[in-house]
Amino acid sequence: MLVVIVGVVTLSFTANLLIEQTIPTAQVTPVRTTVIQALAVAALAATIAGLTTSLLLVQIILRSLRNIAGSSQRIAAGRYDERVEVPASDELRAVAESFNQMAEALEQIEQRRITMIGNVAHELRTPLAGIEGYLEGLIDGVLPNTADTFLDMKQEVRRLRRLVDDLQTLSRVEAGQISLHFTTFDINDVIRRVVAQIQPQVLDGCLQMQFASHEHPLLVHADPDRVAQILLNLLGNAVRYTPEGGCITIRSVHTNDEVQVIVEDTGIGIAAEHLPFIFERFYRADPSRARTSGGSGIGLTIARHLAWAMGGDIRAASAGPGKGSTFTLSLPRAG
Ligand code: ADP
Repeated sequence: MLVVIVGVVTLSFTANLLIEQTIPTAQVTPVRTTVIQALAVAALAATIAGLTTSLLLVQIILRSLRNIAGSSQRIAAGRYDERVEVPASDELRAVAESFNQMAEALEQIEQRRITMIGNVAHELRTPLAGIEGYLEGLIDGVLPNTADTFLDMKQEVRRLRRLVDDLQTLSRVEAGQISLHFTTFDINDVIRRVVAQIQPQVLDGCLQMQFASHEHPLLVHADPDRVAQILLNLLGNAVRYTPEGGCITIRSVHTNDEVQVIVEDTGIGIAAEHLPFIFERFYRADPSRARTSGGSGIGLTIARHLAWAMGGDIRAASAGPGKGSTFTLSLPRAG
């Protein structure tokens, strides 16, 4: 409307000037009247066209916004497959595309939640079925009422406890609720500590340590207990997946800004198709072997989240089945 008013005023002013300069005085009045009439008709037409266009535009915008509002209500009610139609206009297309991206992300989160519940139920079933079997055996008199039977039962209860503890740690670590106590310490001390802790499990097997430097401390800025927890997990896996006669090496190396602890084993290795997924919750390269050996399938997920929380990372590598595995924990270097 403002555009039309400014246009009409400018045009009438210019036309007036031209009329006065170029048209004989006697004809000025009729020409001026004709020009004013023409301008009035043009202004009216422009106003009608402008209003019609604006109304149409508002209608299109309102329809799209109503669509988005409707879809967001359906998503809130649990219809995660809901998407909005992408309109032709640039601005609205961007809004609709962002909305659809958000809806897709929500759908994936929901999918992960459903998978997680299924996995937890599946993991709980195995030790529970074991305990139930022992109890039934005891009640029916099939199993002897001896310490051995109860020890076997305790083993299943321990597995259940470990799973519940791991799940609790996982939920806290994923929610960023784990408390970290950062200090500067020598990573080689922590390596010595975890190796001493894991040694009884290795028995006669070979477990070697190699340090970047024996004389100088290799300082990192992290939580020493959490670093120990990660290394225990990596060493525990190395022990679990390395058959007798194999060897495990843990060594520390450093770059300018990073310290790395490398846990290498000559064990069963990991096939290339499994490697990208082993840090995912409950993922097991070989489900039957991992489950019978007592693994919860979330140890590496927890370890990686802990490493991330300390500004580090964990990477896995393997030349393939039967060719051993290498896990590298990297942490920010201090000092
Ligand atoms: P689990 O408790 O099953 O060991 P993790 O999260 O610690 O769960 O490991 C996930 C999977 O990664 C394991 O089930 C196993 O298939 C594979 N994996 C982990 N460490 C090793 C290793 N050192 N050698 C071979 N496979 C490994």
